[in-house]
This record gives sequence, structure tokens and C-alpha cells, in this order.
Amino acid sequence: MRPRPRHEMKNIIIFGAPGSGKGTYSAEIATRYGMGHISTGDVLRAEIKNGTELGKVAQGYIDNGQLIPDNLMIDILASKYDSLPQGRGVIFDGFPRTIAQAEALKKMLAQRGHELGMMIELIVSEDVLMFRLLRRAQIEGRADDNEETIRKRFAVYHAQTEPLAKWFEAEGIRHTFSWDICKTKEGMLEAIFNEIESQNQ
Ligand code: ATP
Ligand code: MG
Repeated sequence: MRPRPRHEMKNIIIFGAPGSGKGTYSAEIATRYGMGHISTGDVLRAEIKNGTELGKVAQGYIDNGQLIPDNLMIDILASKYDSLPQGRGVIFDGFPRTIAQAEALKKMLAQRGHELGMMIELIVSEDVLMFRLLRRAQIEGRADDNEETIRKRFAVYHAQTEPLAKWFEAEGIRHTFSWDICKTKEGMLEAIFNEIESQNQ
């Protein structure tokens, strides 16, 4: 195995459509490099499970395949970020999903003397995504993993989130990884780890 970077890691933003594997790859990266991991989807599902006020608000949006309002998400994100140990780098999984969230993230990090780091974009065709999400529905039973809601989530992704890829491009930190090219989870991980290590030299 290659030696791993020993110094402070850059932050990582994992970007991609529903079902593209954001959670799966985030977990692998977090374990390998000892980084923090914030999944906004997991945070919201925990709030729903615990029956909090935030959970009640979030549920309506999630069940409809819509995004939670930006102001709410930005506050949640900042408090999660501050609750993690500093200096190890953080993986943002499922955030930002709008230009406003991206601008807010950049500002929040700058206020703390930190940087966005690098963005990792997972590119997967829509038929593969649908197949994976319907399979996940049978395993995990997530309420929003039904065909109708998945279609809405794809539409929201194309309208509100996908345009953000260009925003990251302009920041000079966009790195794309395509399932069609890598073909397997191991192939994707190999390519992603290589890029992370070259970015952290
Ligand atoms: P996957 O994790 O498989 O890539 P996903 O992107 O659909 O799939 P989550 O990231 O878990 O799943 O998000 C589930 C839902 O939570 C979203 O459809 C949305 O309603 C809400 N949500 C999560 N993150 C955000 C965010 N940053 N802004 C607004 N809403 C969000
Ligand atoms: Mg997820």
C-alpha cells in the first residue's frame, strides 16, 4: 500500500446525483484518512427518527423529493462542522446542493480560516442510479426511495444541484470520476484515492 499523507487533510466535497454513491465513498475515504464526515441526509433522517421540530419540518420536504430550505441547511451544517475535531479535514456528503449553499459553505469556512479543499464528482447514468435506488429501497426501506419520489429527486438534482458543478469548476477544484470508465467500486476508489493523495502532497 502507498504511504498515506501524514499532514492535515484538505476538506472534500462529495458531489453527485441521488444513488451515485456519495455515502459509500465518503465512508471509505473517512476511514482511510481519518477524516470527519458530515452527511446532511443522515443528519436529517436522525432528526426525523428522534421526532424533533427540525425532523418534522424536514420530513415534508424529503417525502416529496424536495430540498430543505437553504437557511435551515446552512445553520445545521455550520453547527455540525464546529462539533467535529479540527485539523483532520472534513468530508461534506450531500452538501452543498444549491449555489446559495455553496457560497455559504465557502464563507463559513473562510470565517474559520479554512478552505473548500477539493470537490469529487461522481458521474453515473440515470438507469444505473434508478436500479441502485430501487434495490436500496428493498434493503434499507427509505421512504423516499420509491420510483415516483426518485424521479422528483432526479428533477430537483438537474434543476438545482447539477449547475453547481460549474461553480466548482470556476473555483478550480472540480474532479470528476465516471462509473462508465471505472466500472467497479474498487476502480472508483483507486482513482479517487490517487487524486486525494496527489492533492494532499
Ligand atoms: P445518496 O446518498 O444515495 O447519494 P441522496 O442524495 O438522494 O442519495 P441524501 O443525501 O441522503 O440522499 O438526501 C436525502 C434528502 O435529504 C434529499 O432528497 C433532501 O430532501 C434532503 N437533503 C439532504 N441534504 C440536503 C441539502 N444539502 N439541502 C437540502 N436538502 C437536503
Ligand atoms: Mg447519502
